[in-house]
Amino acid sequence: MSRAAEIIQDTIRKGGPIGVHEFMEIALADPQGGYYMTRDPFGAAGDFTTAPEISQMFGEMIGVWMALCWQRLGSPSSFALLECGPGRGTLMADLMRGTKSVPGFHKAAHIYLMEISPVLKDKQADALEDYDVRWIEDLNKLPPGLPVLCVANEFFDALPIRQYTRQRLEWKERAITTASLHGLSVQSIPLRQGSGGRVDHTHEACDDGLVWTDIPLQKRKDFPVLPEGAIIETCEAAQDIARHLFRHISKNTGAALVIDYGYEGPAAGDTLQALYRHKPCDPLTHVGQADLTAHVDFTPLRAAAENAGIEIMRLATQGQFLRNMGIDVRAQSLRRNASPKQVSDIENALHRLMSSDQMGTLFKVLGVYNGPGAGMAGF
Ligand code: SAH
Repeated sequence: MSRAAEIIQDTIRKGGPIGVHEFMEIALADPQGGYYMTRDPFGAAGDFTTAPEISQMFGEMIGVWMALCWQRLGSPSSFALLECGPGRGTLMADLMRGTKSVPGFHKAAHIYLMEISPVLKDKQADALEDYDVRWIEDLNKLPPGLPVLCVANEFFDALPIRQYTRQRLEWKERAITTASLHGLSVQSIPLRQGSGGRVDHTHEACDDGLVWTDIPLQKRKDFPVLPEGAIIETCEAAQDIARHLFRHISKNTGAALVIDYGYEGPAAGDTLQALYRHKPCDPLTHVGQADLTAHVDFTPLRAAAENAGIEIMRLATQGQFLRNMGIDVRAQSLRRNASPKQVSDIENALHRLMSSDQMGTLFKVLGVYNGPGAGMAGF
């Protein structure tokens, strides 16, 4: 059993079933056993691949956006260039390389990386060795008074969600317990494989001895009346971070891009997903060894921006945003000096980033801005 599974088992033994958010928190971020804390999850040898890891063009296009925002802000002589959840540091490295020729941009940029993983911090230090970089663990550590330009790619989907389920005409919180507490013997229950790449994980035991259950709500929720079995998700961590970030932008000027797969609610359904070595698995298996994500609900993020009184763009798809920022022109110029193999790599990367059967439509881009002028490039 993995260290994370042991910690979860122990927590449940001591305090009873845990909500999905606590399960995700331990499985992803526990200092001893958490998925992100103990490994580099990216690439062919890892569990998943992200847009910046697919092509340098992705970070370059974000760089063009950042440089345009900075100029729109009046080219301030000092600003915080913030990335939330920077992974291997690839996006920031491409962004910085891509903005080298923008006069004054590098001199003004103070790079801040919000990251929890010690393993990934080391990778980021290597990728960004040419720059002065500071790490922060939360947004309170941002320097007061500086404008901020922020990017968060596939960051919000890694934050712990809560799930609520409609059971016998009332809402309950979805929770995880141990098979033994649930009165089940793990060995006696066969694993059931779901169809269509997703595994049906309703009420079944699995190799870490964990099973689904539900617990009464601590506080009444005003959810709509939905059919029996419906699931609603909320992400308090995402709302807190968005509130904080947008308030900072409201006070000090700046802009932010949030890129993730998700939806603008209201929507119901179970979007918790586990990926182990590039394949979906039951979220209660490979605990601490599989990536766990949930689709991002952009509605509360939009509300946080509205409350902060800053301008918010229409949600764009990743494909639209990258095209508007000029990715085709960039690909064309990269092709000019490329070998046939490189040309085919560029074509493949464009396809993966842009096409609607890949990341082009599923991934959405939320842009916010606060400063002189109105309307932003890319949307
Ligand atoms: N943006 C990168 C990585 C996405 S994976 C890319 O596109 O390739 C999610 C990243 O968020 C990882 O770097 C992970 O360690 C970090 N992360 C997850 N939860 C976090 C938290 N609560 N605070 C800060 N970083 C977090």
